Amino acid sequence: MAPGERIGHSIGDFIGRSDGGFIGHFIGGEWVPAESARSYRKRSPWSGEVVADVAAGDGEDARRAIAVAHEAFESWAGAQPWRRQQIFLRAADVLERRRDEVLDSLAVETGCGRVFGEVQVDFALKLLRQAAQLGYRPIGELLPSDVAGGRAAAIRRPVGVVGAIAPWNASLTLAGRAVIGPLALGNTVVLKPSEESPYTGGALWAEILQEAGLPPGAFNVVTHAPGEAGAVGDALLVSRLVKRINFTGSTPTGRRLAEKAGTYLKRVVLQLSGQNPLIVTDDADVGYAVDAAAYGAFVHQGQVCMCARRIYVERPLAEEFTTRFAAKVATLPTGDPSDPATVVGPVINEWALALLDRRVNEAVELGARVLAGGVPAPPCYPATVLVDVPDEAEIAQGETFGPVVIVEAVDSAEEAVARANESDLGLAASIITDDVRRGLRLASRLEAGIVHVNDQPVNDEPQMPFGGVKDSGWGRFGLGFAAEEFCELQWVTVRDQDREFPF
Ligand code: ADP
Repeated sequence: MAPGERIGHSIGDFIGRSDGGFIGHFIGGEWVPAESARSYRKRSPWSGEVVADVAAGDGEDARRAIAVAHEAFESWAGAQPWRRQQIFLRAADVLERRRDEVLDSLAVETGCGRVFGEVQVDFALKLLRQAAQLGYRPIGELLPSDVAGGRAAAIRRPVGVVGAIAPWNASLTLAGRAVIGPLALGNTVVLKPSEESPYTGGALWAEILQEAGLPPGAFNVVTHAPGEAGAVGDALLVSRLVKRINFTGSTPTGRRLAEKAGTYLKRVVLQLSGQNPLIVTDDADVGYAVDAAAYGAFVHQGQVCMCARRIYVERPLAEEFTTRFAAKVATLPTGDPSDPATVVGPVINEWALALLDRRVNEAVELGARVLAGGVPAPPCYPATVLVDVPDEAEIAQGETFGPVVIVEAVDSAEEAVARANESDLGLAASIITDDVRRGLRLASRLEAGIVHVNDQPVNDEPQMPFGGVKDSGWGRFGLGFAAEEFCELQWVTVRDQDREFPF
């Protein structure tokens, strides 16, 4: 099917149907195939059915999109705030109208169940509605100057073309976050979605923004085949027309990107992996701690960068917590993500399933005990609780993306903070305690970009300074902070009298 053949339909009308659909690049307001005419088949992680044939783009396609975005920049940057505001408010209405169909597409394309699907749609709606007022924020400051008759200003201006690289795991939210803030500030965007979410993390945003009236060229999407992200990513990095890159993904990929960006002196915003601790003090309400930990570790089958990976429990509560937690986890329903009762749906692909299996088995060989789960049920991996995991086990290091959590008893929450801080990563953390003042003291010692006291770590709101420290990334997403990342400050002066020059 050629891209133009579905004019009048959403690609979503075809997602998961036996006749499939074709997802082209979205460049200059048009759906186009790859220059090379190549495509790949995206399959559903749950059913294995073809979701769509997708344009397999390369550097050539990316350069085409960059040129178009560059051309569209001046006009979009100059659009009056009320016009931009209308577009984002309309986009929110379009998404709201399409909510059920978007939830279905998230389940079919990425295995995302209802609970996390609703979280994603709600975030995206708030993102659009908050972005609608960004155009009315003050754009700079007047500064006192020591020059006689001089006036000085710091004026914030959009940078130009922003390259956005997003992952599959919270496809709608993370692609939206990569795109909407930069657009609302007057930039134009080329988005490279993950090969696992070309629709809900790419084409769907194009459909929504196009229907809302975004001018052609302001937003563009270039897709690519599995294993071929590098060609599109490199084109974004190398092009002098692309002024910023924002990237959400794993630390190894982000590190490679930052190394290359250094060569081109390109500023990047990176939100990378997490090894997120959840600390339970001995005065905590055990029932609440168990429920919070189960959600924090297993929402979206543990495939969220903020998911709790290690639970530290102060020793007096450790046995009771662990017993009740493992009992709850063992009952979490696993299976079809479209079934509202399912908690643990499929993991994204066979590679991810094999990695989880290998790392859990390695931990067990090194002495770990499995208290729940631990046996794959393809295409799912059940919610799994491990104890006695030695530090040298791979699963105790870095980030393993999936429904596996480690529980560890500690002598004190302070010891837990020290253990958590040993990690190279520092994205999100949480503390469950009856003593809020102690919780805040512990929070201030945690090396993490985000800390929640009396909650689990999976939380996001569009206005918050979302981001990590250490190897979890640079910079902050969040609309209130986007101007720091996606604008340039220009120093402008004017004098109301001539100056005397020394020669
Ligand atoms: P995840 O494990 O969450 O998929 P990745 O870091 O592999 O994390 O992927 C995040 C995003 O980075 C995806 O859009 C992926 O296609 C992209 N990506 C992977 N390799 C590269 C690369 N060499 N250059 C640019 N983007 C890449």
